[in-house]
Amino acid sequence: MTLAREALLGPSYFYHRRLIEESKGWSGDQIRGYQEKRFQSLIRRYGERVTVKDDYRDNPRRFTRWDMSPLTHSVRTGGTTGQPLCFRADTFARRQKERAYLFDIWSRVGYKPHDLRLCYGVDIYGNDLVRFNHLENAVHVSPGATMEGELGRLRQWIGTLPPFFLHVHPSSLYTFIELLGENLFRSLPVRGVIAGSETFPIVQQQQFEREFGIPVAHWYGHSEYAVLAYCCSACRGFHFYPTYGKLELLPADTEGYHRIVASSFNRLGTQFVRYDTGDLAVSPTGSCRTNNFARVDAIVGRSQETFIDNAGRKRSLFGYIFGDEKSILWDQIRDLLVIQDEIGALRVHLVTVPGANKDEIEQILKQRIPVATLEFEYVAAVDRSPSGKRRYFHSTLAQQ
Ligand SMILES: [Zn+2]
Repeated sequence: MTLAREALLGPSYFYHRRLIEESKGWSGDQIRGYQEKRFQSLIRRYGERVTVKDDYRDNPRRFTRWDMSPLTHSVRTGGTTGQPLCFRADTFARRQKERAYLFDIWSRVGYKPHDLRLCYGVDIYGNDLVRFNHLENAVHVSPGATMEGELGRLRQWIGTLPPFFLHVHPSSLYTFIELLGENLFRSLPVRGVIAGSETFPIVQQQQFEREFGIPVAHWYGHSEYAVLAYCCSACRGFHFYPTYGKLELLPADTEGYHRIVASSFNRLGTQFVRYDTGDLAVSPTGSCRTNNFARVDAIVGRSQETFIDNAGRKRSLFGYIFGDEKSILWDQIRDLLVIQDEIGALRVHLVTVPGANKDEIEQILKQRIPVATLEFEYVAAVDRSPSGKRRYFHSTLAQQ
């Protein structure tokens, strides 16, 4: 890596990089010492009460520190858990900190900063089939542009790529392989798969690694940036980085599960304190010798949803609808549920804000999902899933 490229990673990146390395050798007491100091100061400032999304929505200023432009800026969470949440984040340090942790996770499959990534459906950059981001050294393939007529071009182009890491949402991994064709995919120099944001059951990860001989890096994080955990290849559970934020496991209504409650360690912007993420975890049954990080056996409560498009292909809804957090779409929608009871057709139930422009919403969604016929229905509320989270996809097709 050249010095210029290294400098781009920024001071917070290197600060956290060092903390991560040090913390891997910490004892349980050292971890508690580091976390308690920060946790207690949060409690003194905001109280001990467990908080939920609405607390931050109703009273954003109460949980926000040093909120000055350009030091902080607005961030909006994705729509997977219902109405998005707006909060304030550290403009300069957040991305650098985030990268330090993500790169540590990705390094588990051999990734080094600035290695080439091919991203499919991770971020939406317009509807170009392929777009290159020089700063990130990443090529973005837009799911919305992978129409039948374009696939030949995509396959030809992808065959010319040097070795790369494939960055996807777990539910898009097989969609992507199917788009290319399995033989072509197997012939590509894929160094590793990096797949976060949604549940990726361990059996499926192992099955993929066996079947294709490609290692997978998987992790758990959430849009509020309060806790982050990597999926461990030794115990196959999740280890939470102690210097990123603090994890608490509190009892849940669902038997055998605990609620993931998170407190963030950022100094600027919105501070999440004892924040109920809405995600559930399977409490740890054993320990793992790798390090003394807090860990859980599995994380559930996030969905992996695929629909069948008009060409009979399985597609992940996530990339189509939730990949773009900046869209004006989420200014107008409170919630949404997509129902499939016919191949190639989706019924979209929408809960809108007062005065929403329905034509605009429908046009955006039709543009985003050109691979299925959409029908719209405006409702007062959508159903919740058994885990208590709002679900956003429901299929009555037998093969799902
Ligand atoms: Zn482990």
